[in-house]
Amino acid sequence: MPALPSLLGSTLEELTATFAEWGESKFRAKQVVDWVFAKRVESFEDMTTLSKALREKLAENYSLRTMRVSTVTGSEDTTRKLLLRLEDGRFVETVLIPASTSLYGERADRLTLCVSSQVGCAYDCKFCASGLAGFTRNLTAAEIVEQVVQAEKVAADRVDNIVFMGMGEPLANFSQLVRAIEVLNADWGIRIGARRMTVSTSGVAPQIKKLADIAPQIRLAISLHGASDEVRDLIMPVNRKYPLAELFEALTYWKQHRKQRLTFEYILIEDVNDGLDQARLLVKRARAVDAKVNLIPYNTVDGLEWKRPSEARQDAFWDVLNQAGVQATLRREKGHDIAAACGQLRLKQETELGIIESPIPQKRITIGSGS
Ligand code: SAH
Repeated sequence: MPALPSLLGSTLEELTATFAEWGESKFRAKQVVDWVFAKRVESFEDMTTLSKALREKLAENYSLRTMRVSTVTGSEDTTRKLLLRLEDGRFVETVLIPASTSLYGERADRLTLCVSSQVGCAYDCKFCASGLAGFTRNLTAAEIVEQVVQAEKVAADRVDNIVFMGMGEPLANFSQLVRAIEVLNADWGIRIGARRMTVSTSGVAPQIKKLADIAPQIRLAISLHGASDEVRDLIMPVNRKYPLAELFEALTYWKQHRKQRLTFEYILIEDVNDGLDQARLLVKRARAVDAKVNLIPYNTVDGLEWKRPSEARQDAFWDVLNQAGVQATLRREKGHDIAAACGQLRLKQETELGIIESPIPQKRITIGSGS
């Protein structure tokens, strides 16, 4: 945990209140957030419009950066993955995705950032590397916001869209997620439109409703990956807690409160969920809440045995959706090599440093051969 609270996770309102206690004006608080978020200074000394005494007081009470870029892999025209070292020695990944491979905004935007919300993950989805070594801790709002700040510095560019699709379950880190969204969205903050932020969830139904009640016009993506409880149970343990009926009840609630279209993510895994019976059920599911579907060919994870289906099988699955009039994309992005390592860079790094033990390979789980 950061020794001092980072200003990247503080709101203007909070800073104004603190400044009032310090006998400083509201105007000074505005100047500070301008240095922090617009000018992006990395040291309090550089806040040259403030008195030396105030700069020193700020430095005694707050920090401005708590992570450093450990490695950057990939290339500018495909995807670039940043491995960030946190203050407590842990690591998270954050991924820059240029427009050609980004699918989550309605417009053709230039740069999307995929951020992490937790170190590790407790949800244990059977296809995912992030949960392999279990859950370590929530990220603070400041650590979520700092991923954007660090990535924009590496890219020497502004990020247009944010997707909460990195490590962790964002809805299990609810208060910090909501705070991060506020800072990312604010005029005095990072200034990213709410419609340009997508929260992706494994389907934590009660939290979906809570988010519908309070968050601004952000987008929601559901990691569905199975169109029946039978199949989804095998892939995502969360489905036993919140089965499809409960999830869809929450999605209906979301739709009643939000205009943004829902997205279903559906990883295609050979002989697990790629049967055409599942495709036909998925049509019904998508129609029920007017969702669009992103089909994602499975990326192999070290230690997991599942495989990506052939392109012919992927196409056949997509055809069923398309012919039923469900808007569906089949993502065959470049940069598969680096995407394949999703969540694995951090595992490798933490294993090498002896922070975690090498995750034990899991048993293969298969169900019938589909239709
Ligand atoms: N916990 C949230 C956020 C994590 S993002 C959630 O479940 O939505 C999860 C997404 O990462 C999945 O929906 C999928 O799109 C992607 N993903 C994870 N592991 C993958 C793999 N092995 N192959 C392809 N995509 C994967």
